[in-house]
Amino acid sequence: MTAYDNNNIFAKILRGEIPSERVYEDDTCVAFMDVMPQAQGHTLVVPKAPSRNLLDADPTTLAALMPTVQKIAQAVKVAFDADGIVVKQYNEPAAGQTVYHLHIHVIPAHDGVPLKAHTGEMEKPEVLKANAEKLRAALKS
Ligand code: AMP
Repeated sequence: MTAYDNNNIFAKILRGEIPSERVYEDDTCVAFMDVMPQAQGHTLVVPKAPSRNLLDADPTTLAALMPTVQKIAQAVKVAFDADGIVVKQYNEPAAGQTVYHLHIHVIPAHDGVPLKAHTGEMEKPEVLKANAEKLRAALKS
């Protein structure tokens, strides 16, 4: 198992060293907008505890993560008027993982609309900001 790299981009986001459109935070997790969304509203749920992915995560980290994934999924469904929600997670490069701090993708899906490519195009900052505002509002209601 490859060691956790404390300088991965999500570790930097968690430490506030680089910006993100953060929509949620509690004692164990944060959620922020994915900068290369597969659909408008694509959100990442990230545990604060350092782990590379599912394979090395402590079970207590995983247990704390899923209720937050559910909360974000419910709010994303409302905020983006989704017909369904894709929840996915990659482990190691062979599986498509590109950032080596455990994270869960929460992606709104609409009937008949294919998702964009994983790690495709960068979204405009103003669009990410507007989407984050919509999601924050749904999380409050
Ligand atoms: P993966 O590790 O393949 O599951 O995916 C990493 C995800 O992080 C991709 O969907 C990227 O678009 C996203 N991403 C990469 N850098 C950032 C960043 N600075 N802020 C938010 N999302 C990011």
